[in-house]
Amino acid sequence: MIDLHTHTDQSDGSDSPPRLVQLAAAHSLEALAITDHDTLAGYDLAAPDAHEAGLELICAIELSTRVERQPGAPRSPSIHLLGYFPDRPPDAGFRDWLSHLQQSRYARNVSLVDKLQSLGIDISLEEVRALGRNLTGRPHFARVLLAKGYVRNTQEAFDLYLADNAKAAVEREEPSVWEGVRRIASAGGLAVLAHPVRLAAEERAGLDGFVESLIDEGLAGVEVFHSEHCAADVDRFLRIARKFSLVITGGSDYHGDNKPGISLATGRDGNLSLPYRLIEEMRTYAERVASI
Ligand code: AMP
Ligand code: ZN
Ligand code: FE
Ligand code: FE
Repeated sequence: MIDLHTHTDQSDGSDSPPRLVQLAAAHSLEALAITDHDTLAGYDLAAPDAHEAGLELICAIELSTRVERQPGAPRSPSIHLLGYFPDRPPDAGFRDWLSHLQQSRYARNVSLVDKLQSLGIDISLEEVRALGRNLTGRPHFARVLLAKGYVRNTQEAFDLYLADNAKAAVEREEPSVWEGVRRIASAGGLAVLAHPVRLAAEERAGLDGFVESLIDEGLAGVEVFHSEHCAADVDRFLRIARKFSLVITGGSDYHGDNKPGISLATGRDGNLSLPYRLIEEMRTYAERVASI
């Protein structure tokens, strides 16, 4: 079994990268991809341990992107792209681009703290960053609000303060989904549309056309298998992947204790069991693209 979609505490998972490697080895996984949000830090920190444990660790990332809506329309929900670099990690240019994204996230976080403070909430950037390490995101803000008793659970923190339309919402500069695909592809990676079940109604309604527009920029695959995909979702996304001869990937989206109910490799209530063959097909696809 393999798992191609996991998070560590370098983004919003709860396990450290070495701990996740230990867990993968204990589950006898044949390969693991760490797909932290907008950072390669999880992969970088896990690589030595994985090597020592004899675990195949695939360099990967999950990028948050957006699509532009008409002026005045509500922002589109974030669209997640997975980037896989099965042969070698991306070059310095890609890493530079990631640090530019980090800066825009940092600026957003500063404004978010200001907005929360102006709403009478006692919160500092330091305490949020202490949870977020390499990538401080809204889930970390939610945990601070919960720990301080401002909300009853983290969902309430989003609903009241942090969601895109909530009281403290601050827009962040995010790359477009097409730019995300281009960046991954030009860094030698395979860009994969993550958990399509979470796409907004507009993209889901015109899914074939949306996928085609991403293929034009270099999209390589679709995440067909995911803890949140029911059997009908899997069928639908499998059909699209086959229609466009795209790579099929899958993973649990494991976040440790931060997403209870999702287990490494086996997903929710054992709804996943992914064969190593998916990685072989990924490599075959990468070789074919490289030879064109
Ligand atoms: P950020 O990248 O810091 O903007 O945070 C994005 C993350 O916040 C997403 O990946 C979700 O985990 C979480 N999130 C965003 N909006 C909501 C929402 N309305 N309800 C619950 N979680 C959300
Ligand atoms: Zn996450
Ligand atoms: Fe995601
Ligand atoms: Fe994820």
